[in-house]
Amino acid sequence: MAKSDDINRIIDHKLFSEDDIQEMCKRLGKQLTEDYAGKKPLVIGALKGAVYFLTDLTREMDVEEQLDFIDVSSYGDGFESTGKVEIVSDVATDVKDRDVLIVEDIVDSGLTLKFMKDLFKERGAKSVKCCVMLNKEARRTTDVEIEYYGSKVGDEFVVGYGMDFLNMYRNIPYVGVLKPEIIEKYIK
Ligand code: 5GP
Ligand code: MG
Ligand code: MG
Repeated sequence: MAKSDDINRIIDHKLFSEDDIQEMCKRLGKQLTEDYAGKKPLVIGALKGAVYFLTDLTREMDVEEQLDFIDVSSYGDGFESTGKVEIVSDVATDVKDRDVLIVEDIVDSGLTLKFMKDLFKERGAKSVKCCVMLNKEARRTTDVEIEYYGSKVGDEFVVGYGMDFLNMYRNIPYVGVLKPEIIEKYIK
């Protein structure tokens, strides 16, 4: 079976098209270009979900930025945050005195983002802000500021454009909502 047949089997509907996403990146990139003018931000992508968003977003940013990545995990079964966040793979750059901009795919409980923000602040970053593609605000359980985001989303599990379902389907070029029965099948 081709991957495209499989996608139709798991996706309920498209939430953000390729054009919607490029519009978000352009708008956010323009804002970040203004806000980071004259600075040299360290853009830190949260692996693996933010990779697709980061590549499009940074190409819309006309600033002298540098890139790094961090991989932190909190998702036990892939759908719900366990609340325990761990560093799987750390940044290679010293963040001391840097203007850090964390790039995330989606913020749900906020635990992962809060962990990363606190980590870089503790390490002496001059500023720590974030730019997330999707803000699942209704699910927030922790108080964390989201300085920039592409769009709010409801309480639905989305996949594509970097976001996974069991570490698959990240390369779907748009953002789609997973069929509820697919999630139910995998949750014990
Ligand atoms: P949080 O710590 O905010 O609960 O979870 C953040 C991480 O969980 C995100 O960076 C993302 O990787 C994953 N996540 C949260 N909601 C979704 C979703 O709807 N779909 C997918 N694929 N991942 C999600
Ligand atoms: Mg993520
Ligand atoms: Mg995941």
